[in-house]
Amino acid sequence: MTTKQPATLLIHPERAAPGGFRSLVPGTERASTVLFENIDKWKNRSGFDESIYTYGTSGTPTTRDLQNRLAEWEGGFATVLFPSGLAAVAYAFLPFVAPGDHVLIPANVYDPVKTLANGLLKRMDVTVEQYDPLVGAGIAAQIKPNTRLVWVETPGSITMEVSDLPAIAAAAHAAGALVAIDNTYSAGWYLRAFELGADISVHALTKYPAGHSDLVMGSITAKDEATWKRVKDMALQTGQCCAPDDVYLVLRGLPTMPLRIRHVERVTNEIAQWMQTRPEVKLVLHPALPGSPGHEIWKRDFTGSTGVFSFVLHDQYGADAAARFIEALEFFGIGASWGGIGSLALTYDLAKSRTHWPHKGALIRLNIGLEDERDLKADLERGFAAL
Ligand SMILES: *Cc1c(COP(=O)(O)O)cnc(C)c1O
Repeated sequence: MTTKQPATLLIHPERAAPGGFRSLVPGTERASTVLFENIDKWKNRSGFDESIYTYGTSGTPTTRDLQNRLAEWEGGFATVLFPSGLAAVAYAFLPFVAPGDHVLIPANVYDPVKTLANGLLKRMDVTVEQYDPLVGAGIAAQIKPNTRLVWVETPGSITMEVSDLPAIAAAAHAAGALVAIDNTYSAGWYLRAFELGADISVHALTKYPAGHSDLVMGSITAKDEATWKRVKDMALQTGQCCAPDDVYLVLRGLPTMPLRIRHVERVTNEIAQWMQTRPEVKLVLHPALPGSPGHEIWKRDFTGSTGVFSFVLHDQYGADAAARFIEALEFFGIGASWGGIGSLALTYDLAKSRTHWPHKGALIRLNIGLEDERDLKADLERGFAAL
């Protein structure tokens, strides 16, 4: 062994930490450079070979661990991680469209998808058309020979309509189009995307998987190898990757996700039912409530509901009343995102973003967090009092 100078020893120490360590907690492995045994292995490396490591952007054991757990969780072929949920959404479109193509998105879609449609996708000469989230098999009428992808989000952001994924998937597949679902609401726990016909399942891991309001991350899980390869190819071409430290936080969140979801499900159901009894409330939009749009489909396809829902106030309560309601709340914060530790409340101007929104009263969306439900209910009473 050569004798080393102190500066060299800091990088190439004589005494390595012993191997054989096992704990319940996954390690955090960071890298830009990945070292190879010999030149032959270096020459024959491939970013698509997930049994080896090639460079920080293509993954470390920490990121592969999360990818594998997510793929197993949803029953897909493999998963690719992205630095935010929105990045994952964008990369579910980009590998599959070329100039002249057509894609369909639901009218109630997570709003930044419309911005993507009017921005990058438009510049790529991809036509994005909206469909009624309750259209079901009727979507066939909007599918064209150049339709490459049908985007599904169920229940939809804010207005919570539940779409008929199997019917939409059947119509899309009959025309050779792929079906991608934003499965963030169910976290893959209450909706089996691939069994119901999706080819691609997208998650904002920011929400329930991370669960602690401290990071943003997204994932795309593909049902089969060919679809995964196209997503992975686009991710490799553009250097999409996530920091192992953030990935570790998602790995830490995952084991408690079912417990957190079951808790917020119970509390949210209670609060949503109580909302229905309030004289100020015209309509509660929560998929587990009879009368909520697509409730029958929810009963057929979902095994539960999670912690985000909306309610519409009676006609006399407009935007100002909604602001008074929200600002009177102590525990519900004002801010985007959901699925984390704290309860949140926001109001949305749907007359602006939706073509056919029939209600005059304001809509308020709540995210139920992990606070004690008695405090949350008392808080909402304060909101009603402020109306
Ligand atoms: C939050 C969210 C996203 C985007 O996730 P970010 O990590 O915040 O970028 C995508 N889809 C839905 C339905 C979401 O709620």
